Amino acid sequence: MVEKMSEIDFVKKLVFKIAEVGHQRKIMDSPSLADIEPFRHFFDRNGNLKYDELNSMDGAWTRREILARFLLLSVVLDQGPDIPGVRDFLKNVTNALYRKEIRIFHRSLDFFRELNISIDEILDKHNSVKKLRAKIWAKLNNSNPSKYNLFFAQSPRGIISINQVLDYGIHRWGVPLCVPLLLEKDLGEKESTQPFVEYLESFESSEIMSKELKNHERYGLGSAIGNKACHLFVKWYIHTFSLSSKKEDGWSKWSFEVPFDSNAGRVLFRAGFFTSFADLEDYEDWEVIQKGKGKGKTHYIRVTNIRGKKVQKDIEDEKIIENYNNVVLNHLKIRKKPPTKLEIQQIPNTILLNSKFGIGDFDDGLIYIGTKFCFNHEKPDCKNCPLKDLCLSKNKKPELIKNYRT
Ligand code: SF4
Repeated sequence: MVEKMSEIDFVKKLVFKIAEVGHQRKIMDSPSLADIEPFRHFFDRNGNLKYDELNSMDGAWTRREILARFLLLSVVLDQGPDIPGVRDFLKNVTNALYRKEIRIFHRSLDFFRELNISIDEILDKHNSVKKLRAKIWAKLNNSNPSKYNLFFAQSPRGIISINQVLDYGIHRWGVPLCVPLLLEKDLGEKESTQPFVEYLESFESSEIMSKELKNHERYGLGSAIGNKACHLFVKWYIHTFSLSSKKEDGWSKWSFEVPFDSNAGRVLFRAGFFTSFADLEDYEDWEVIQKGKGKGKTHYIRVTNIRGKKVQKDIEDEKIIENYNNVVLNHLKIRKKPPTKLEIQQIPNTILLNSKFGIGDFDDGLIYIGTKFCFNHEKPDCKNCPLKDLCLSKNKKPELIKNYRT
């Protein structure tokens, strides 16, 4: 099937198939907000968020503001090694703190004012999650349960485990809690019921907002957050929980880039998306492929290095070029003039533009396929994978599975 199509037709089919899979599975890869005790009344009996009440007040702030604050902390912690464990951990700490009237999303300062209790709860709930998750995590990751640790820091090699709760608590919990706190303090005489939401929505596009989440000189999270997490926040804000009140193109479902992580990268590499736009040698030059640096002497794929890389092959499809210009100028809003070359990570936006699918659907599909079928070892479950009829590795180049890891 792969051979009979032109390269760009193949990529279009692949992107639409992934988005369709994701569309059917919305909400799977996100924190379960309805399980957080202080947010329970934001949801109806069926667990659906009451959207018409998002602007209702909950204490001093709107519900939209409170949920956005929670998602910011959540996305920072989500960079840890065991996502289901991280989500239980955050839920349990939040519930325990609120039961003690330490209302960290309503009054960020409570976290610091009662720092001894905040730190005790972080330690206590980390231990309980470790008891429940360590063995499962160790089996999935071919590791030892004693190594289970959700406390992490950034290093030049990526995320590393740390033991110091204060480092973790202040850097990973404290910094995202300080963003709304500082915005609140900066209001001065001005009144607002959702200063964090107003800050987020003050940017021309959600893509620009994702960049400023990390880089803004006053409110940016800096090393407390990675690029992927910034894009994941936007995905949750726009697609998963539909918190955005903006309607313009800069806040559309094509207005942010895919949050590239190792699952997404592995599926796109094996399925043939990346090799449709550049050769393996290009990826080696860009250090996306790092020869011999993967597990068991395989080649390591560092997906984050794809960001900003240009398409190296000719794309003779006028509609794609037209859509691409529309995406970068009007949706991502990251350029003022049409670019001369296309960037690889913006191709899914281009293909899905004006369809019923958005980047959130596409990313949900990648996560579903990457975690349920396309395992990071030599024997992914290709037989049951939704991409089995299209996938380049399955149908033509099995060496892309055998020799590469993410
Ligand atoms: S068919 Fe196999 S290699 Fe291809 S995406 Fe699915 S699980 Fe991965």
